[in-house]
Amino acid sequence: KSTPRYDFIIVGGGSSGLVVANRLSEDPTVSVAIIEAGDQVFNNTNVTSASGYGKAFGTQIDWAYESEAQVYAGNKTQILRAGKALGGTSTINGMTYMRAESSQIDSWKKVGNNITWFSLLPYYKKSEYFEYPTEAQISMGASYLPEFHGTEGPLSVSWPTEMVGNNFSSTLNATFQALNLPWNGDANSGSMRGYNVFPKTFDRELDLREDAARAYYYPFTTRPNLDVYLNSFAQRLTWSNDNSSVAFANGVVFTDESGKEQRLLATKEVVLSAGSLRSPLLLELSGVGNPSVLEGLDIEVKVNSPFVGENLQDQTTVDTDYTANANFSGAGGFIGYFNATDLWGNSTAAYSKTVKASLERYANMTVQATGGVTDRETLLKLFQIQHELIFEDEVVISEVIVNAPSSSSGLLEYWGLMPFSRGNIHIKSTNASAPAAINPNFFLLDYDLKQQIDTARTARKVATTAPLSDILTSETTPGFDVVPENATDAVWGDWLKSVYRSNYHYISTAAMMSKELGGVVGDDHLVYGTANVRVVDASVIPFQVSGHLASTLYALAERAADIIKASHQ
Ligand code: FAD
Repeated sequence: KSTPRYDFIIVGGGSSGLVVANRLSEDPTVSVAIIEAGDQVFNNTNVTSASGYGKAFGTQIDWAYESEAQVYAGNKTQILRAGKALGGTSTINGMTYMRAESSQIDSWKKVGNNITWFSLLPYYKKSEYFEYPTEAQISMGASYLPEFHGTEGPLSVSWPTEMVGNNFSSTLNATFQALNLPWNGDANSGSMRGYNVFPKTFDRELDLREDAARAYYYPFTTRPNLDVYLNSFAQRLTWSNDNSSVAFANGVVFTDESGKEQRLLATKEVVLSAGSLRSPLLLELSGVGNPSVLEGLDIEVKVNSPFVGENLQDQTTVDTDYTANANFSGAGGFIGYFNATDLWGNSTAAYSKTVKASLERYANMTVQATGGVTDRETLLKLFQIQHELIFEDEVVISEVIVNAPSSSSGLLEYWGLMPFSRGNIHIKSTNASAPAAINPNFFLLDYDLKQQIDTARTARKVATTAPLSDILTSETTPGFDVVPENATDAVWGDWLKSVYRSNYHYISTAAMMSKELGGVVGDDHLVYGTANVRVVDASVIPFQVSGHLASTLYALAERAADIIKASHQ
């Protein structure tokens, strides 16, 4: 039997990969294959249910990668969740649809990319099928600015069918106002500060989660030029033997459902969309990476690309519990987004200076903690851009999610949005399914802990401010016995390090930046040193965004698909 041949092979049928596969296969003369390690989950109620968040964790559709022990954060390992299914992590995520601060997308220009908020906005809208809230939903807090939303895209974005009522949103609004945090009529407009009731990747008509497969694949299964290989685990790319100076990928080797090794041939391109904790590993397994990583494992260096797997960034999340005297039903998400001045008031300017003066030390510490692949001067440049975002552009740096109390208990979730710490991810074996060394270096740098501590203090303030405090009767975790009212940073810091988890917003492991700054791909997603390998997934995002990642990834993938199409015209 001859080896199947396609114009394009997409490795990873996840949030980003399915967008690219869909758009490329719009042209019936173009053939596209998707290689996806997981199965389809169309009828999996852990996925589809509006209130099912968390139910898929630890099941067969959760990769549940394990990090290295986090030596700056209590020495424990962390579970790093990611979806293993057609639809990828969009099948298990929290469905929050929240973009970014416009200045954050604009900052990508400073690292060599021709992308701005205004150039990406049409792609956010292109992906979106925005379901306008009903009058009833508006009365429960749903609000939007129509100019920022698309109504003709495939991805349903809406407020949940059954929203939380009983004035919970107005109670929260009054609480945040008491803390001087204004109402934000549409936090997806590029300006995130304030309190808002956010929309979700949710299909209100069907009352189901909207994942990437529901949006971008299932309605298109009849396309004869689009094939999906499920339960198929990609191992590595293969290369053409021509002697050109740039490497040309001509196929992908994978293990099929029965465990047999198979191969597909690519005539035009291979697109890696396996997620930020996989795409860099596939590059390394294919000989694209840092020679010191590859040679140690006897992998022939096809492309010397030293920064593959570097720049790994994530955030840290903490949950706190409350008893409550009221019980709400329905779904809905309520967020307060705070910036540096909200957190540090009159001392913000002084703290900005302190952090600025610490950037060289941060760069040194990062060099030490990451094996020095990215040098001190480069890190300093990257950190300066981030410092500007935090203290000059004043992007939001704290996210406080308030869940409506149900069964008489309430839950707050919060995280610092702009940590500086960077780590890395590398293969430890030539066996593609062997675990990798994944090290986010949580809390390596003191800003990150301070950001988390003052986010925690802010969250507690929210819970103890009226009128919310009339509903949340007492704090059960951490509780004032464990973290007293006027607890020091040290007490807060110890507690936070003992309970935090990954926020699952891993980025930048094949960063879109100039080569000089440690980039792996250009703003066309093409891997430097290759003629036809692109990375289109969370691996490319150079700096953390304050929103949640999925909306920005859908937009970026839409943009990437246009670029790929144009380059083959
Ligand atoms: P993925 O969607 O993960 O796709 C990668 C695909 O590649 C997967 O299908 C995977 O199975 C496949 N794959 C991997 N390796 C191989 C291989 N070797 N061969 C073949 N296939 C392979 N973001 C939000 O915007 N809102 C939220 O509420 C939110 N909550 C989250 C909650 C959780 C628990 C998690 C884990 C993430 C959350 N995120 C959220 C983040 C967001 O969902 C992800 O960043 C995003 O979906 C990642 O998209 P991706 O295209 O990079 O990768």
